[in-house]
Amino acid sequence: MARYIGPVCRQCRREGMKLYLKGERCHSEKCAIEKRNFVPGQHGKDRKAKLVGYGLQLREKQKVRRIYGVLETQFRNAYEKAAQTKGITGENLMSGLERRLDSVIYRMGFGTSRAQARQIVRHGHAELNGRKCNIPSALVKVGDVVSVRESSRNNPTILAARDATAHAPAPNWIDVDREGLKGRVQGLPKRDELVQIQLNEQLIVELYSK
Ligand code: SF4
Repeated sequence: MARYIGPVCRQCRREGMKLYLKGERCHSEKCAIEKRNFVPGQHGKDRKAKLVGYGLQLREKQKVRRIYGVLETQFRNAYEKAAQTKGITGENLMSGLERRLDSVIYRMGFGTSRAQARQIVRHGHAELNGRKCNIPSALVKVGDVVSVRESSRNNPTILAARDATAHAPAPNWIDVDREGLKGRVQGLPKRDELVQIQLNEQLIVELYSK
């Protein structure tokens, strides 16, 4: 599946907030939001128009899409799936995105960002229930075991990411064995345990249900 390959920090600047797309750099003074917190482009420093209605809904959708590194078509499909599932559509959408294999690897601390976790999956370092899985969008279910493959256990990128994220608490819905480089999904992610920034997924539901 295609992915965005343009400038990354530009996406945060466009949203006017940290989306934490670059791992450790996001927590340093090199972060573009710390240095240039204005919209990219020629008129970026001009007075901002007040966002209302569609503008607000669009920005919220773009934020979530960028956080999870998903392009429009795939995001729309995730929304359709969430809308067909029992429960609150916005929460289903967030839960579905969070249960992507790349996001789970990131949550377990074996990648410093979702982009890095995605690459770990694409390069064949991840296993789902004991079988190699190189599909970042594969959805994990309750009871699934996600691990780093035996042959990749000494991979310096994965080990460095594990050390760099040692301070971060593991999510409640995954039982993480950091030394064993694996984790078992023991429940579905709850809405209030997800992304660390303020999001209103209800605006996305309003956008797509027009
Ligand atoms: Fe966003 Fe991270 Fe770049 Fe800062 S360093 S602008 S948080 S991606």
